[in-house]
Amino acid sequence: MKKLIAGNWKMNGNKSQARALIADIINGLHENQSILDKVEILVCPPMLHIGDVRHALFGFPDMHFGAQDVSAQESGAYTGDISVEMLNDAGCGYVIVGHSERRQYHDETDADVAAKASAILAKDMVPIICVGETLEEREAGKAKEVVGEQMRGSLPSEIKDFQEIVIAYEPVWAIGTGKTASAQDAEDMHAFIRGTLKAYVQDASKVRILYGGSMKPENAEELLACKNIDGGLIGGASLKAESFLSIAKAA
Ligand code: PEP
Repeated sequence: MKKLIAGNWKMNGNKSQARALIADIINGLHENQSILDKVEILVCPPMLHIGDVRHALFGFPDMHFGAQDVSAQESGAYTGDISVEMLNDAGCGYVIVGHSERRQYHDETDADVAAKASAILAKDMVPIICVGETLEEREAGKAKEVVGEQMRGSLPSEIKDFQEIVIAYEPVWAIGTGKTASAQDAEDMHAFIRGTLKAYVQDASKVRILYGGSMKPENAEELLACKNIDGGLIGGASLKAESFLSIAKAA
C-alpha cells in the first residue's frame, strides 16, 4: 500500500496563489519522478480553487485532488452548502470530514461526520475521517477513550461494503501549533485505531491511517517510518511546494 501524502490548504490563498502552488508541486514532481512510484499525492484546496487545480492536474492521473468538507444533504435549500454530487462532478476523489476545525467552529458532531462520510461513499469517493483528542483529554489520560468514541460515532454503518476509507489521526493540540505527537505516541494511537477498525471493515490492514498535526520536513521521516502510519494530512507545510514535497520524499 502506497503512503498517502495529503495537503489541506484550508482557507488560504487566492486563485493565482493556488495556481502557482499546484504548478510548483507539479514541477517539483517532474524533478523527482520517483516520488510518485512510492507515494500518492492529494491536495485539498479551498472549494473555489478546485477547478483551477483540476485544470492543472489534467494528464497527471497519479495526483489526486479533493475537498475539505461537504454537506450530507443531497440537494435543495441549504444555502452556502456544497453537495457530494457537486464535488463528484468537479472531479474530486477525496473529501476530508470531521476536521477538528469543523468540529470546533461549526459544532459538527460524530453523527454529522458519519452522515457526510456515508454520502461520500455512496458516490464512490473516499472520505478522510478525522479524529483526535484535545490536550486536556490527553493530559487526563483519556486520549484513546475519546478517539475510540469518535471512531464509533463517525464511521458510517455501511462502511463494510466499501473498498476505501481513510482515517486521519490529528491530535487537536498538535494542529497548527508546531507541537507534534512523538513518533511513539502517534504509532501507539494508530495501532489502537487499526484495532478499532477491525470491528468495522473486512481488512483493517488496508485502511490508510494518516497522521496530522504540525507534520513538517524535519519530523516527517520519523513519523512516516512507523508501522501503522500510512501517510500524512498536512496543513501549514502543504502551502509551500518545497516543504510539501520534502515530506512526500520522506515518505
Ligand atoms: C490540519 O489541519 O489538518 C493540520 C494537520 O494542520 P498543521 O499541519 O498545520 O498542523
